[in-house]
Amino acid sequence: MTLLDRQARPLRDLRISITDRCNFRCTYCMPREHFGSDHVFLPRSDLLTYEEIVTVVESLLPAGLEKVRLTGGEPLLRSDVTVLVRLLKATGPHLDLALTTNGALLSKHAKELADAGLNRVTVSLDALNPTTFAAMADTTKTTPSDVLDGIDTAMKAGLGVKVNTVVRRGVNESEILPLAEACAQRGVPLRFVEFMDVGNTNAWEMAEVVSGAEVRTLIEQRFGPLTPHQGQGLHEVARRFTTADGQEFGFINSVTQPFCGDCSRARLSANGSLYTCLFSSSGNDLKAMLRMQATTDDIRAAIKRVWTDRNDRYSMERQEHQGSTQKVEMSFIGG
Ligand code: SAM
Ligand code: SF4
Ligand code: SF4
Repeated sequence: MTLLDRQARPLRDLRISITDRCNFRCTYCMPREHFGSDHVFLPRSDLLTYEEIVTVVESLLPAGLEKVRLTGGEPLLRSDVTVLVRLLKATGPHLDLALTTNGALLSKHAKELADAGLNRVTVSLDALNPTTFAAMADTTKTTPSDVLDGIDTAMKAGLGVKVNTVVRRGVNESEILPLAEACAQRGVPLRFVEFMDVGNTNAWEMAEVVSGAEVRTLIEQRFGPLTPHQGQGLHEVARRFTTADGQEFGFINSVTQPFCGDCSRARLSANGSLYTCLFSSSGNDLKAMLRMQATTDDIRAAIKRVWTDRNDRYSMERQEHQGSTQKVEMSFIGG
């Protein structure tokens, strides 16, 4: 039984935030003015337990769930995350299990994550220049070479690795080609993400969005023509291309070329609410049900009610929403 929303989009992909905390303060995601020392993060008792997360995943497997991505906040701040990976892997061998990380702690955990059954990691890296990196991530504790070490260790451990770069005009355009070279040397796919108006705190302006088309021009000047990747999946967020040498570049053009029409993603916040869009203003609480011993059938029925009523198309209607909507923060529901 596949769950279809009001636009006939199936629920195939669940992104699970396992913490709202992070060791970075990226200016486009958790700006320090809003996420400073007085910010109140979720207390431990509000976080879903790993068993509760597994119950949600198990409830969705018969409904067509194919992919789970662990995210946050920074998921590797939960130092026992491999326990969750192992539990999720045990729910079904065909579940595609991925994790998105800022890479600071990846070299420490990559091997145990791979051994526990994780298939893939996406590593966020916005600059190789240490000064630009420190300004964007607003951290002095991690350097770009720490993140590159994480990438190399993950590759050695057998994980599938991709790199994501958010490009912000006037901030890190000069990093596009150095990052492309570093990924090409390693044979790691690199995806450029347009700066998005997620949440309410990142002072987003259209003028700061560097379009995927602009980045593609730069890449083609350096690497030659890009050809569309064979086997591009319908529900993939990135438009994937390859160079003549086989290096993959992707473009996540959520602002200039929205892809809501194929969006099959639901998000589970760290405190157990289900969100049907990255730009939602409110979620649907599952934690209360989970804590009243709901069965997987009960949870599936609750999610079915929410999903079948889903009509989200925020990115396609962005202009109409500007300034009018309170949106949940990305670090809370998971990117
Ligand atoms: N902390 C992890 C990380 O940075 O990879 C996982 C969570 S983070 C919210 C997930 C992804 O969202 C990252 O790749 C990050 O670059 C991206 N992101 C956060 N804010 C964004 C924004 N305003 N526009 C585009 N991407 C954003
Ligand atoms: Fe943290 Fe990731 Fe957000 Fe940066 S993008 S502040 S690393 S959650
Ligand atoms: Fe999906 Fe919402 Fe993003 Fe559109 S705006 S692609 S519906 S998460």
